Amino acid sequence: MIRQAKGKTPRRAAKKPSNNQKDPVGVYCRVRPLGAEDEECCIEVISNTTIQLHAPDGLKANRNGEFKETQYSFKKVFGIKTTQGELFEDVAKPLVEDLIHCKNGLLFTYGVTGSGKTYTMTGSPGQGGLLPRSLDMIFNSISPYQAKRYVFKPDDKNGMEVQNQVDALLDRQKRDSQTAVPKTPTTRRIDPEFADMISQEEACKADGVDEDTSYSVFVSYIEIYNNYIYDLLEETHIDPIKPKPPQSKILREDQNHNMYVAGCTEVEVKSTEEAFEVFWRGQKKRRIANTQLNCESSRSHSVFIIKLAQAPLDADGDNVLQDKNQVNVSQLCLVDLAGSERTSRTRAEGSRLREAGNINQSLMTLRTCIEVLRENQMCGTNKMVPYRDSKVTHLFKNYFDGEGKVRMVVCVNPKADDYEETLLVMRFAEMTQEVEVARPVDRPICGFAAGRRQRNQAFKEELTRRLEERGGPLDGESPTVLNQLLQSFPPLPPCEISGPNDDVTLPRLIEALEKRHKIRQMMIEEYNKTANMLKSVLQEQDSNLLSKENFIQEQRGKLGEKDKMLQNQKNEIDRLEKKSKMLEYKIDILQKTTNIYEEDKRSLQHELESREQRLQREMSEKRRMEARMQGIVTDSKLKWEKECERRVNAKQLEMQNKLWVKDEKLKQLKAIVTEGKPENRQPQRPSREKDKVPAKRSASPSPVPSTYIGSQSSLSSLEPIYNFSQTVRPDPHFLRPGSVSVASCISEWEQGVPQSRRQGSQSPPDCRKRAQGLPDSLSRRRGRCWAREVPVQPAEVDQEETGHWTGPPVRPLHRRSHSAGGERWVDHKPTTNVDLDTVLQPNIPNAIKVNAPNEKALSKCDKYVLTHQELASDGEIQTKLIKGEVFKTRGGGQAVQFTDIETLKQENPLAASRKRRSSETGPDCELNERDWTDVETRCSVAMEMRAGSNLGPGYQHHGYQKRRKP
Ligand code: ADP
Ligand code: MG
Repeated sequence: MIRQAKGKTPRRAAKKPSNNQKDPVGVYCRVRPLGAEDEECCIEVISNTTIQLHAPDGLKANRNGEFKETQYSFKKVFGIKTTQGELFEDVAKPLVEDLIHCKNGLLFTYGVTGSGKTYTMTGSPGQGGLLPRSLDMIFNSISPYQAKRYVFKPDDKNGMEVQNQVDALLDRQKRDSQTAVPKTPTTRRIDPEFADMISQEEACKADGVDEDTSYSVFVSYIEIYNNYIYDLLEETHIDPIKPKPPQSKILREDQNHNMYVAGCTEVEVKSTEEAFEVFWRGQKKRRIANTQLNCESSRSHSVFIIKLAQAPLDADGDNVLQDKNQVNVSQLCLVDLAGSERTSRTRAEGSRLREAGNINQSLMTLRTCIEVLRENQMCGTNKMVPYRDSKVTHLFKNYFDGEGKVRMVVCVNPKADDYEETLLVMRFAEMTQEVEVARPVDRPICGFAAGRRQRNQAFKEELTRRLEERGGPLDGESPTVLNQLLQSFPPLPPCEISGPNDDVTLPRLIEALEKRHKIRQMMIEEYNKTANMLKSVLQEQDSNLLSKENFIQEQRGKLGEKDKMLQNQKNEIDRLEKKSKMLEYKIDILQKTTNIYEEDKRSLQHELESREQRLQREMSEKRRMEARMQGIVTDSKLKWEKECERRVNAKQLEMQNKLWVKDEKLKQLKAIVTEGKPENRQPQRPSREKDKVPAKRSASPSPVPSTYIGSQSSLSSLEPIYNFSQTVRPDPHFLRPGSVSVASCISEWEQGVPQSRRQGSQSPPDCRKRAQGLPDSLSRRRGRCWAREVPVQPAEVDQEETGHWTGPPVRPLHRRSHSAGGERWVDHKPTTNVDLDTVLQPNIPNAIKVNAPNEKALSKCDKYVLTHQELASDGEIQTKLIKGEVFKTRGGGQAVQFTDIETLKQENPLAASRKRRSSETGPDCELNERDWTDVETRCSVAMEMRAGSNLGPGYQHHGYQKRRKP
C-alpha cells in the first residue's frame, strides 16, 4: 500500500510494525478450449481445484514412462466453459474491492503463447477480460464520490498531492482549452472499436465504499520488452515520415521503498470508457512500437496500473481535506506476461534469439525469485531474492517483499504441442502457490464523523428547496404558508378615498399599516428568536450526535481490532492445524519406514539364524568327517605299520639266514684255506691284516661299516653310506640325487634308529641271538659318509652282485696327506643359515668357503665342515659343525666321511637348569629315550665307538662332553 504523507512519506518499516499475517499467492488455472485445428487434448479438469495432464501419444512412445498422468492443484480451476464474468468474480473482484479499501493488488496471467493470457486479461469484443471489468467495477463503486479532476495531482516521485479548488479549476480550464475533450465524458459516445468490451449489464459494485471520501483514478500503461521499460501513454509527437524509436524508462524507489517507473505518464480518468480508451490508446501505441522494434506482442510483458487516490472530505463534507497525510493511494497492477515458451520453440535466430533469451531471462528471474522466496519462507533462510535481475521482478518487488494480494492466472492450452511447456508452467505454478505475501492492513479511520457527504448533500438540497420556495411568491404563485401568514394580520380598512376632503381614510390606513408593521416586526423578532433557539438546540443535537458517532466509531474500531485478533487466532489455529497435519503425515511416513526396516531386520535375522544353523550343521558334519577320517587314518596307519613290521621281520630273518649261510661258507672256505695253505697265509696277504676286520663281520657284522661303500652288509644295516650313484643304491627311498642334504641324511638316520631297535627286539629268538652279536648301538653309531661318486665301476657292481669283498676300502688308500701343506678345509655354509649373534663362532683358517659342496673344492681339501642349523627340542636354534674327512674314491671322485659333530647351542641358564633337573629326576628309560633322539649325542657316541675300533685313533668329540654316556 502506498500512503502519502505531507512532502515526506514515512518509511514502510515504521508504518507497519504489527502486520505478520500472510496469505499464499493465489494461483488459478484457466483451460482454454482446443483450437479448431488441434485434435489431441492433454488436459482434463478433474475437479474444480485439480487438473490432470496426459502425455500426448507421441511423447509416451518416445520417453518410456517419464511422462505419466500428473495432477496439479490450484486455488481454483476454470474449465473451458468458464465465462469471463465468472472468472472476474473469483479472481479480480476481490482485488478491486481491496483496491477501493486502500490495499494493493497484483494480478498476472502466465502461460505459453496462445494459451489465452491476453484473452483473459483484455478479452475480446463482447467478452471483456479482467481489465475492462475491473475498471468498470471501480467506477461503478466510486463514481458518485469522485473528486473533481486535478484535485489529486501525482507528484513525480510516486506520491500524490491535493490541490486546492482554485488550482484544480485553473488546471481544468487549461485542459479544456488545450484539448477538445468534452466536459462530460460519461455521456460521451463510446469508441466503437472497443465498445463491445465493456458491458453495462454485468455491472458490479464494491461493498463498503466510504462515502465521506473523495476518489480519483489514475492509469498508466507500460510495456517491458527486452528488459527495457516503455511508457505506452507518453504523449509524443510521432513523426509519420521518420518515426523515432520509443525511449525506455528507468525504475526508481520512492521514500516508502516502493518501486515505480520514473517519469511514467499517469492519466486521471473519470469513467470506465475513458479509462479503457486510454488503455486502447496504449494498445495501439504498443502495436506501433512493436512494429518499430520488430517484436511480437507475445514476447513482451504489458503492465496496466490502476492507481486509486482517496482522501477524506473535510468536516463540512464539501471539499477534499487539504492534508497530504490523509491521502491514500492504492494500486492494482494487471500484468499480461510474455509467453513462457523456451527458446527452442520460438525458433529464433540472431537478435531474435537474444530477445527470446531475454524473455526467458525475465521469466526465469521470476521463477528464481519465487523459488528463493519460497525457500526463505519455508526454511527460514535469508537468501537474497534476485529481484533486480529483471525489470519485471524488480518492479513487483514490493508485492512479494511488502504486502498486498498477489494472484496469478495460469493459462493453459490443452493441445498436444504445448504439452512439455505446459508441464513447466504447471511446476512453476505449483511452486508459486507456496509463496506467502503479507496481508495488507486496514486503513486507519480518519477523525471526522461519518456521513458528512450525505449531510452536506441534504443541506444543499434543502437550501435549493428553500430558495425555490422563497422564489415562489415572487413569481406570482400563492404559497399557502404566506397566505395564511397574511391572513393572520388584522384586515385593512377600506382604502377608497371618497373625495379630496376625505381625511379619515388615509390616516386610518396609515394606522392599520403601522399596526401591521409592528406585528410584522414582532413576528420577525419572534421568528428570529425561535430560529436562534432552534439553531442552538440543533447545534447541541449535532454535537451530541457527533460525540455519539465518534463513540460508535471508536467501538467499531475496537470491534475491528477484536475481529482482527480473532482472525489472527483463527489463522494461527489454521497454521497449527496444518502443521500438525504435516507432522502427522511425517510420523506416518516414519512409521512406515520403521516398519519396513523392522521387516528387513526380521528377515535378515531369520536369514542369519538359518545360516548359523547351516553353519552348525556343516561344522558338525565336518567334525564327523574328521573323526571318520581320523579313524580311517589310524586304522590304515596301524595296518601299514603292522604290515611293514611283518615285512621287515621277514626280510631280516631272510637276510640273517643268508648271512649265516655265507658265514658258514666263509668258515668252510677259511677252514679249507687254513687247511690247504697254512704256510702261505702270512706272506700272501700281509698288508691285509688290518683289513681282516671286516671279515669278522660275520661274527660281529660291520663294526665300521662306513668304510664299505656299496657292500651288501652296509646296505642291510640301515644305509650308513650315502652314495650319489644310483646304481649302487637299491632302496629308492634313499636315492634322491641332487636333493640329498646332510641334515636330511642325519634325520633319516635318526628316524631309522628306533625302527631298527624295534626290529631287533622283535626278531625271532635265533635271529636275535645274531643280532645281539651286532650291538644295537653300532648301527646307529655309524658315521655318515657323503660321497660323490662318478659312474660306478663294473668291479663294484660285481662285488655287489656277488657279495664278495674283493678290494680294500677306499678311505685308507686315498686319504690325503696331512703333511702336504697342513689341513685344508672346505667350509660349507648353506645360504639358508641365519646369522646368530653368538660369541663362539667357528673360525677355520685357510678354508675354502662354499655354499654347496662341489668337487673342485673337495679335491683341493682334505677336511670338510658343514655348518648346519636346526631347531633344538627346547625351541632354541642350535648350530652343528659336522666335520668330515675328504677321500679320493677309486673312481676318481671325492668322498667325505663324517667324523665329528660340534654343537653350539645357546641356552637360557634358568630354563636349562630346570630342564636338567627334571631330566635328572626322571626315570632312566626316559633319559635313554631322549638321548637316542638327540643327533649330537648319537654322533658323539659314534665317535667313541670309532675311537675304540680297529681303524685306529679317531677324532675325539669334545663338543658335548656332558652327554657322553657312562
Ligand atoms: P496469449 O495471449 O496467451 O498468447 P491469446 O489470449 O492471444 O493467447 O489467445 C489466443 C487465441 O485463443 C485468441 O484468438 C483467443 O481468442 C483464443 N482464446 C484464448 N482463450 C480462450 C478462451 N478461454 N475461450 C475462447 N477463446 C480463447
Ligand atoms: Mg498475448
